[in-house]
Amino acid sequence: MSYDSQNIFAKILRAENPCNKVYEDDATLAFMDIMPQAPGHTIVIPKEPAMTLFDLSGAGAANLIQVVQRVAAAVKQAMQAEGIMLMQLNGAAAGQTVDHIHFHIIPGSMHNLGKHASSGNVADDLAALAEKISACLT
Ligand code: AMP
Repeated sequence: MSYDSQNIFAKILRAENPCNKVYEDDATLAFMDIMPQAPGHTIVIPKEPAMTLFDLSGAGAANLIQVVQRVAAAVKQAMQAEGIMLMQLNGAAAGQTVDHIHFHIIPGSMHNLGKHASSGNVADDLAALAEKISACLT
């Protein structure tokens, strides 16, 4: 299967769809998940068009994990979370629902995790959370 440039994250990258932005640089974008599995659930994506980790260049992967580390530290501080989960799904068989590689940064514990990509998840004020997390970026 080839990369579908009509996926929702590609549209966010082209600013055709809105997002609650936390961080952006030349190669990366981080924003709030609209169906958070816990308050503060943040998504980090590379700008490189790649469906899964296996499609991403080595340089892209190296940059992505460095940004994930930075944003995760900010999420931890902003949400005053003792624990931070990272999740990265590859392929529909693993539960991937958006075909543009991304990391999930989720504060809290896997024992209190909301359902994945569920419209039943209650989102707090995502714009305020994005601002709060962004302010903790170093
Ligand atoms: P995955 O199933 O690992 O591909 O994760 C996709 C994630 O994207 C899910 O957690 C969804 O809640 C989230 N999501 C879907 N559409 C949007 C959107 N427009 N803005 C932010 N997050 C989204």
